[in-house]
Amino acid sequence: MVAAMPLDAATGLIEPRSRRGAALDVSGLSHEFELDGRRLSVLDRISFHAEPGEFVALLGPSGCGKSTLLRLVAGLEPPCAGRLSMDGRRIEGPDPSRVVVFQDPTLYPWRTVWRNVALGLEARKLLRHRREAVDDALRLVGLSGFANAYPHQLSGGMAQRAALARALVNDPMILILDEPFGQLDSLTRIAMQAELVSLWQRSSFTALLVTHDVEEALLLAGRVIVLSDRPARIQAEVVNNQPYPRHRGDARLVELRREVFSRLGLDDTW
Ligand code: ADP
Ligand code: MG
Repeated sequence: MVAAMPLDAATGLIEPRSRRGAALDVSGLSHEFELDGRRLSVLDRISFHAEPGEFVALLGPSGCGKSTLLRLVAGLEPPCAGRLSMDGRRIEGPDPSRVVVFQDPTLYPWRTVWRNVALGLEARKLLRHRREAVDDALRLVGLSGFANAYPHQLSGGMAQRAALARALVNDPMILILDEPFGQLDSLTRIAMQAELVSLWQRSSFTALLVTHDVEEALLLAGRVIVLSDRPARIQAEVVNNQPYPRHRGDARLVELRREVFSRLGLDDTW
């Protein structure tokens, strides 16, 4: 499918805004760190493929190497071994088409929500012609009424929505999410999970979500890649074709949860 090339109203230029996600290929990826003169192996021959627009979750225990894997996909550091590519092109550094949303929203306290969301465009000197993209991103996450608020005036959920808008303003082809709801209370978390699915359905980026929460992975993703303890290896892949919106109590989801727990070597005792 060819992405639409809308005419930008402000500049009159044809703008290659992606209306689809990119394919991601991770092949034989291994990584290690040096710690106190010892080598710490963190990723061990990880290989997987994500289709354009797919929602993939990487599920694994704390400390197994999930954030490291995402940093490599984001191009924030080069892998020790293996190959990463996006739509067949090698990933060699960070790029606005691949943005990360971290657990901590890390907004600048001295900037308003609008100016925090505008950061990416400002850094790329695109803001002058793309101010409406900031408004669009704020609308997408339901923060239009808080454009002029400062981060200390937001709840945790709103701050994380602002962080999502800051990522979305770049119109990413791959949205990388590193335990994005980990610091939220359980009710806000449930609301944000539903919002993320609807954002993904409307924007059709490829989503790569890291989580240690089995239920979250199964509620959101079409495929769950289960990782072992460090060094992370792929233990299993669980496909979840359940339609959205999904419900926690759904019999099929309960069954899949049991399957994932057993793949993690844990009993589903609840
Ligand atoms: P996860 O996100 O799954 O909790 P991480 O990828 O953050 O795990 O970390 C995996 C392992 O790599 C941990 O043992 C951590 O201490 C180690 N690690 C992460 N980053 C570095 C670094 N820059 N230098 C040394 N060790 C690191
Ligand atoms: Mg992590």
